[in-house]
Amino acid sequence: MKMNISSGRPTVGEVDLEALEFNYRQIQKRISEGVKLLAVVKADAYGHGAIPVSLKLEKLGVEYLGVAIPEEGVELRKGGVKAPILVLGGIFGGEVDQIFRFRLTPVIFRKDSLKLLSREAERRRRKVKVHLKVDTGMGRLGVPLSLWPDFLKEVKRFTKIEIEGVLSHFSMTDEEKGYTQNQWRAFQRAVAIVKEMGISCQYLHMASSATLTAFSTYSGNLVRPGIMLYGSYPSPAFQALISLKPVMTLKTRIHFLKSVPSETRISYGGTFTTKRESLIATLPIGYADGYSRHLSNHGEVLIHGKRAPVAGKVCMDFIMVDVTDIPRVSVGDEVILMGRQGREQITAEEIAVKINSISYEVLCLIGKRVPRVYKG
Ligand SMILES: *Cc1c(COP(=O)(O)O)cnc(C)c1O
Repeated sequence: MKMNISSGRPTVGEVDLEALEFNYRQIQKRISEGVKLLAVVKADAYGHGAIPVSLKLEKLGVEYLGVAIPEEGVELRKGGVKAPILVLGGIFGGEVDQIFRFRLTPVIFRKDSLKLLSREAERRRRKVKVHLKVDTGMGRLGVPLSLWPDFLKEVKRFTKIEIEGVLSHFSMTDEEKGYTQNQWRAFQRAVAIVKEMGISCQYLHMASSATLTAFSTYSGNLVRPGIMLYGSYPSPAFQALISLKPVMTLKTRIHFLKSVPSETRISYGGTFTTKRESLIATLPIGYADGYSRHLSNHGEVLIHGKRAPVAGKVCMDFIMVDVTDIPRVSVGDEVILMGRQGREQITAEEIAVKINSISYEVLCLIGKRVPRVYKG
C-alpha cells in the first residue's frame, strides 16, 4: 500500500472496538453472577478516545463508567453518554456545579466537599448520589479506617446526600498476597460498620483489573477494570491468567528514505553511526506524539512484518529507523510502532519495559496530535 501524496499525515492510532468488546466479554466471564462492571475510561480511555469507547461500552450494557476528574465526565455527557459516571478522584470546590449539571456521581472522602455538595443540593432542592471511599492500605485517597465511623456519622446528617456506594482501592497487583488479603479484610470491616450504622447502599467495590483476575472473590458487587479493557495487563504475570486483545495500533508510513555510506551519523547528538552502507527511513512520529525519547537507539518498529531498529535519538516530530535488512522498502510503506503486522507484534508491554515504565503510561503518552481512527 502506497501513500497517496494528497493524503494527510499518516500517523494514527487505530482503535479496534471489536477487540474492546472481546476484552469486555473476557472480563464478564471472570466475574461472578450478580457482579456488575464499572468500566474505567479516565485519561481519555487510556488514550483510546473516551467518547467512542464509552458509547461502545454503553451498547455492551456496562453498568457504570469511571473517570478521574469531573471535566472528563462533562466531556462524556456532551458526547451523548447516558450511563452513570463515577468521578473516582473526588472533587474540588469549584466543581460542585458540574456534578449537578451533568449528573455525575462523585467519590467523597473529605468532609468539606460533603458540605459543599449538600449546600448545593439544598439550593437545588434535589438529592445527590455519592460513593464514599475508605483507605484500606493504598495511602492515597480515602478516609482512614479509624476515622470511618465518625465520617459516616457526619454523612448521615446531610439529608440530601444519598450513599449509593462504598469503595476502596488495592495497592498491590501481584507483589504480596498477604497485603491484598488484609486490605480486603479492612474493607469488610468498613462495610460492616456501614451496616451497623443503618446505612444501606447499592454498590460495594474494590477490585480493578489486577484483583479481579488474581483474586476474583475480592470483588464486592461491582468491579472496576481499566487496563484490561484495552487489552493490556496490570503486570506481565497476568498474561497467563486471561487472554486479551490489544485495542490500539499505533501506525504511520515512511516519509523519507535515503541510502547513506558507512560512518554516517544519524539524528541529534550523533549517537548512532552507520557501520555499513545503510538504508535509513524517516518516520513522521516523535516524542511530541508520545513516542518516548527513551526509545532512542532502543525501540523497534515493524515494516513488511519485520523488525527495524530506531537509529539515533527520537526527535520531537520524527524518528529514523534502519531498514537496510528489509527488502524492497519504499516511501509510503506502512510502519507499525505498536501493534501487529504479519507474524510480528509489538505490545505496549514490550515498549513499557524499554522505557522503564508500565503499559498504562505507554498508552496514556500517545498524544493529542495523533488522530484516533475507529474500526468495528
Ligand atoms: C484507574 C483506576 C482503576 C482501574 O485500574 P486498572 O488497573 O486500569 O484496572 C480502578 N479504580 C480506581 C480508583 C482507579 O483510579
